[in-house]
This record gives sequence, C-alpha cells and structure tokens, in this order.
Amino acid sequence: MKTRPAPSETGFDPSALHAVLYAHYGPSRWWPGESPLEVMAGAVLTQNTAWRNVEKAIANIKDASLMDLEKLARADEAFIARLIRPSGYYNLKARRLKNLVTMVHERSGGSLERFLNLDARDLRSALLSVTGIGRETADSICCYAANKLVFVVDAYTRRILARHGVIDHDADYDDVRVAFERSLPESLDVYKDLHAHIVFVGKDYCLRTRPRCGQCPLRDEKAWAASGPSRSPVPTGRVP
Ligand code: SF4
Repeated sequence: MKTRPAPSETGFDPSALHAVLYAHYGPSRWWPGESPLEVMAGAVLTQNTAWRNVEKAIANIKDASLMDLEKLARADEAFIARLIRPSGYYNLKARRLKNLVTMVHERSGGSLERFLNLDARDLRSALLSVTGIGRETADSICCYAANKLVFVVDAYTRRILARHGVIDHDADYDDVRVAFERSLPESLDVYKDLHAHIVFVGKDYCLRTRPRCGQCPLRDEKAWAASGPSRSPVPTGRVP
C-alpha cells in the first residue's frame, strides 16, 4: 500500500495561501444571501451559470413569496422551474431544489434551523443523499448556510493547485478538501474567505486559457505553494 505524505510534507501551506489572498482581497463577506435557505438555493442554482443569473432566479422565488422551507417544499416543481428559468437547466435545477427542500423538511419536521444544527458529518451525509447534490454543493451549504468547518473545493481550486504542481489534475475531491481542513486554523472566517478568494483568483486571473500570471497575487508560489524543489503533489488516494 502506498504511503501517503501528510499535506505539510508537500510544501503546500493553505494558511499561507489564505494570508497571501487575504492581503490582496481583504474580507470576502461570502456567501451572498439574506438567509440560510437563500444560500442553499443559491448553491443549487449556481451550477453551470453566472451568479447574475442566480440572482435573477432568487429574486423571482422571493417575489413569489416562496423563499420559505415549508412553501418551497410544497410548491409545484413546474412552477419552481418557471421561476428559476434565468439560472439555466431550470427543469433539472427545480427537481434538485425540490428534492433538497423536501428532504430537509421531512428530516427536520419543517425546521431548517434544526437541520442545519446537525453535526457536520451527519449534515454532509444528509445533503449528499439527495439526488443531484454533489460534494461541492453539499460543502457550500455546510460552510456558508450551516457555518460548519467544511472546506469547499471547486474547479478553480483544482485548476490553481494543479497549475502550481500542488495536486494532480485528477486528485480526489475529498483528498483536496481534507488537505485544507488539516492545515487551516479552526476559523469559519478563514474557511469562508479562502474559498471565496480562490474563486476570485479563478475569475480574475487564472483563466482557463491565457492565465494572467503577471498580475496574479499568487504569482510568487514560494510564498504559499512550495517549500522548495523537493515538493511533491498532494496524494490522490483517499485520506482516511
Ligand atoms: S494565474 Fe495565478 S494562480 Fe493561475 S497559474 Fe498564474 S500565477 Fe498561478
């Protein structure tokens, strides 16, 4: 069985990454949303679309007075689909949103607060049991709606870390998540800001083609990604 080095042995320092990005961006005040339910809805609707489209869909849900667990769980799926049309893939997303709120309503007896107060492991497990809710969406809800110390890994995280040789391109989601969680301080602000800042870098600098490395706050990789030439990637096997 392959011996896996601890993340600290790879030269990757998530706390240093946070320090560099916080110095550049400051507090992120993420996730945008007026309530935990709105954050949950946003986490479902943001898949494969720009945030401005999510905002329109959320505004429609609010205008219809449906941003309420009980009402949303009882709402007709086709009606939800019409409301969230601006977010794209609206039939699929309506089903996912309906699946999610139905599970939460049934599991918590109608109390979103009770559901979000579940232990992080149970909360994550419940979210992942919903068809169409993947790990990134579940972890976004855990971190930003339920205020749990769960780090969100997204495509930008993977792109940035892979481009700097910190992880393999096909690194397992949970290995990358755990690498962050093992090294970061137990601070919700740090978890929330760091994921947000990584998204900002992905949108502002680390573009899919033609990354703008010359202007990027992460251009000095020795400050956060590597301790020296002996750096090795974060392992791709599942971290227990
Ligand atoms: S844009 Fe920034 S994060 Fe992306 S590869 Fe260049 S220096 Fe790294």
